[in-house]
Amino acid sequence: MRKVLITGANRGLGLEMARQCLEQGDRGFAACRNPQDAAELLELQRHHGDGLTLVEVELADDASIRQALETVGQHTDGLDLLLNNAGVMPLHETPETLDGATLDETFHINCTAPMLVVREALPLLRRGTQPKVLNISSSLGSLTNKTTGGLYAYCASKAALNMLSRTLAHDLHRHGITVVAIHPGWVQTDMGGPRAPLEAPEAVRGILQVAATVSLQQSGQFLTWEGEEHPW
Ligand code: NAP
Repeated sequence: MRKVLITGANRGLGLEMARQCLEQGDRGFAACRNPQDAAELLELQRHHGDGLTLVEVELADDASIRQALETVGQHTDGLDLLLNNAGVMPLHETPETLDGATLDETFHINCTAPMLVVREALPLLRRGTQPKVLNISSSLGSLTNKTTGGLYAYCASKAALNMLSRTLAHDLHRHGITVVAIHPGWVQTDMGGPRAPLEAPEAVRGILQVAATVSLQQSGQFLTWEGEEHPW
């Protein structure tokens, strides 16, 4: 049975990841800030019992990340899939109004925290079966595709996440751990908004298909939810 850890699992893409992983028979660890208020996750847990463990994590807090992975380690010897999904996207940035704290916080949640989650999950990933890390990035982190201004913190943090993913892929190759950055598509969630062309179930089906099929030889790539290479 595949063991999967998902961050940002209480809503949006993360919640749909938890739902589909459980449908596929995975053992799930759903990390979010307030598990006691995560109504949909609690409903999933009622349905799947021991198949789903809710784990509290505040990604802005290193100690909370350490504690969360300790909790996961109390329930399993290994992890096969880490879906580093949680993210934030501040809007309405202009060169005149750029705010240092917003930039720092966005970098922390979108690229520092995923790296710290990997660091704390490493002992479990090393004991996993064909272990994989999927860092949920964005086409907005692509330098090649950047043809408009704005979204400074978000775009730059996802570009940094892409570089961190590629660097990590080199270092973890010897442990047999595959690392990829993945663009999930433009999806109808709180972040994606109602005009997005994709709904979460379709995007997540693609992401989980990539998770199932991506190989160690592909480690370090930037892929789309459809499994195609995304321009850097
Ligand atoms: P979303 O609906 O806004 O959900 C974001 C998730 O991240 C929530 O569960 C949120 O938890 C969690 N999160 C934010 N800050 C956190 C923190 N400090 N500690 C713990 N959890 C935190 O976004 P989404 O659309 O599902 O996006 C998921 C991922 O896909 C993100 O990385 C996003 O950048 C990426 N993405 C999305 C789209 C799209 O069109 N939707 C496109 C490209 C990339 P709370 O409920 O506690 O805030």
